[in-house]
Amino acid sequence: MDSAPFVEAYQELSQRFMRLVNDLSALRGLSALSFRQPDESALLRGAMRVLMENHDLERCSIFLLEGEELVCASGLDWQDLLAPASGEHPARKPMTFHLGQGIIGMAAETNRLQHCRDCPAESRFLPPDKQLASGSIGSLICVPVSLDGRVLGVVNVSHPRTQFFSEGHERLLQVFAGFLAQILANWRYYHRMEQEIRHRTRELEQALQEAEQLKRRYHQLSIVDELTGLHNRRFFFAEAGSALALAARHGHAFSLLMIDLDHFKHINDVHGHAMGDRVLQITAALLKAQIRDGDILARFGGEEFVLALANTDEQGARQMARRILDSLRALQLGAGEQHLRVTASIGIATLDVDMAEQSDRLEHLLRRADQALYYGKACGRDQSQCYTSLQQHN
Ligand code: GH3
Ligand code: MG
Ligand code: MG
Repeated sequence: MDSAPFVEAYQELSQRFMRLVNDLSALRGLSALSFRQPDESALLRGAMRVLMENHDLERCSIFLLEGEELVCASGLDWQDLLAPASGEHPARKPMTFHLGQGIIGMAAETNRLQHCRDCPAESRFLPPDKQLASGSIGSLICVPVSLDGRVLGVVNVSHPRTQFFSEGHERLLQVFAGFLAQILANWRYYHRMEQEIRHRTRELEQALQEAEQLKRRYHQLSIVDELTGLHNRRFFFAEAGSALALAARHGHAFSLLMIDLDHFKHINDVHGHAMGDRVLQITAALLKAQIRDGDILARFGGEEFVLALANTDEQGARQMARRILDSLRALQLGAGEQHLRVTASIGIATLDVDMAEQSDRLEHLLRRADQALYYGKACGRDQSQCYTSLQQHN
């Protein structure tokens, strides 16, 4: 019996099987392309590589539709597979075709696969098509990459031999292009989302920063006196309260100075309210210049200031009061008839052991400083008085 027909049939079957395996490998390769590719052309280059690696092609390329123009996004020939560095020429201007121009343009315009079996003899094969293949070109297939009827681009494969591609190739390329369209659309969607998320995140971060700044600003406004730039009594109560508690716990010295400008109403009345404001600002700057780190200074209200001194006993507080009174007296404000004398009275109270257990120590100390202050006013102003000397007089 002649076994030749069986051998032929077997060979034919085995070839078909191999082609099927190659087709499936190409599709599997496509599905393995990562969405994490940094740019679209890297994704397309990967797709072209998959196609070349699994089929006997001379060259393949993909053009993307940009408006009315097809622009080459990636192209590979078999030499590129052997020496990948020579495959891409990023500096060169990409090759382009108009919609409808040549076989590739026709594929995009009609959204239908175009198969040119004998290129040299084919009337549709225009000179620009020759650019699609390096060297001589016998067969060419241009297959649209489209999704929901919308053409995204065209995949081109070529071979030097005429009549090289079969119906099987056409079918594979159509499936391949369908897969690629889906992958491309997903990639674009994924990266648009990523960009959108990045953009939104940046906006959110900016809004958070602004909110943080506003919060700081409002906080600042709530603890700072606008006219003098000193802290206000709200800040003073919080800060001095904890400093005093700490001093009481550790048995450290702690003193309070209540400073009230003398006859300030008179300054306002004679020199004007604006001048009064200026005196308050100058006094604030002067007090600020006298204090050390850790001292707590605040404008307590109107023309009244308060100063809390940690680790300072009565003697130290007296010295500080003297320095303040001296520097106020030394101020040279206004001239001639307008000469302005600024003095203050200061009441001093110092933490003593019997206050150590009281929870309202600060209020207590403030009351004592206030009493000493009014004693100083009664004694003629421009002086400091300690609560302790007030007691001795009673
Ligand atoms: P004494 O020596 O007894 O303290 O007399 P005084 O005039 O300083 O005290 P008094 O409490 O009678 O008057 C304080 C004045 O301070 C009255 C008020 O109009 C003025 N004053 C309060 N806050 C401000 C301010 O922010 N700017 C100005 N220019 N004046 C203020
Ligand atoms: Mg006053
Ligand atoms: Mg006052």
